[in-house]
Amino acid sequence: MEAVGTLDELLGRPVRGKRVFVRADFNVPVRGGIVFDDTRIRASLPTLRRLVEAGARVIVASHLDRPEGRVVADLSLEPVAERLGEWLGVPVGFARMGAGDEARVCTEKLVGGEILLLENLRFEPGEAANDAGLAQRLADLADAYVLDAFASAHREHASTVGMQAFVSDRVMGDLVAWEIRKLEVLLDPPRPFVCVIGGVKVADKAHLLEALVRRADVVGIGGALAYPFLQARGKSVANSLVEDDVSETVERVLALAERSQCRLLLPDDHRVARELGGEEVPHVEAEIPAEHIAVDIGPGTAAALVDAVDAAGSVFWNGPMGIFELAGCSEGTREVALAVARCSGYSVVGGADTARALREWGLEDGPAHVSTGGAAALEFVAGGELPALRALRKDLSPPGSRSAGTSKPARSASGS
Ligand code: ADP
Ligand code: MG
Repeated sequence: MEAVGTLDELLGRPVRGKRVFVRADFNVPVRGGIVFDDTRIRASLPTLRRLVEAGARVIVASHLDRPEGRVVADLSLEPVAERLGEWLGVPVGFARMGAGDEARVCTEKLVGGEILLLENLRFEPGEAANDAGLAQRLADLADAYVLDAFASAHREHASTVGMQAFVSDRVMGDLVAWEIRKLEVLLDPPRPFVCVIGGVKVADKAHLLEALVRRADVVGIGGALAYPFLQARGKSVANSLVEDDVSETVERVLALAERSQCRLLLPDDHRVARELGGEEVPHVEAEIPAEHIAVDIGPGTAAALVDAVDAAGSVFWNGPMGIFELAGCSEGTREVALAVARCSGYSVVGGADTARALREWGLEDGPAHVSTGGAAALEFVAGGELPALRALRKDLSPPGSRSAGTSKPARSASGS
């Protein structure tokens, strides 16, 4: 198995004037041209600063949200270029991929120590489809490739995986290296190992529960992820959010939990309301009544999760327990956040929204690690190898060219 190259190794070779393509994750909340949370932008700074200071011609790229292959003005990364420039203290250029050769022309004009952000990659239909043509066009912009988009490393897209086939000099950035170092602890977790999983993106998360149930001692499920489980147990979820049909996966997870030593904690009480965002104060019910929406786990469920976290040797938490952004719907998430933050075991929190909840209550310094990845962190902890990391490990470069550099090869992504 090939070790993954590091940024130290790349910088150990001459990079001045080289075009270094950095796949970052700038999938940040933007509304009306304003970046509301720049955590992920700040997380990318160590890698970008080092490359700029080394005199590389830096091309950085990311997706934003899900424009599904169309140009959506509200999802432009232009406000991110501006914010990134403020943090870096240098102007950040901006170029569209588009059908023309704007991106190529702009990157040709870059001089050493300059940096350019490409427009939202998901404006291109080929990005999510991992289209070889787009992958080749992106690779044509790059002499070297740096994967620093930890939060997108579970995606097999043109910029995360596809283009890696066409660039021989590839390394992970400092953010990815840091994430792996912190998350790797959970591949051999101090016991009992407790996972609390919630939020939305049910299709992304549900199938990972199979692996988690095999690895963890306790798996607690809340948020919208819980409703397909309640349905599988014949309970009504009334008007609660049911995103995707994951019933087959849910059946497998339930069967696996029966056979394994893993204790599965599902909500057995809820905070419910008839409408969202109105005057109505959500109230607690054991079952979700007709015409109601479950907006949060109830106090009994929260107490069970808190007990499990209090006794944990290690904890992984991803996904809010309810619609914590709305008044009266945040108590379950807050209880879990408090427990995870004070937990004496090794605690990791993943996910942009989950991290935002922690910050809202000033708890972000509590856990041992707050990951920039949600589903990516979950997939890593579930023991799966992230596709973008796997691609990084395949040595496509000429013999000898990757042995330079002094840093230890990362133990990263050793799979397991
Ligand atoms: P993360 O970004 O931490 O991985 P997700 O993106 O999966 O988390 O989920 C976060 C979102 O889940 C929040 O915006 C929250 O409002 C929503 N959510 C949680 N519980 C519910 C629920 N019961 N019904 C609807 N949405 C929910
Ligand atoms: Mg989210």
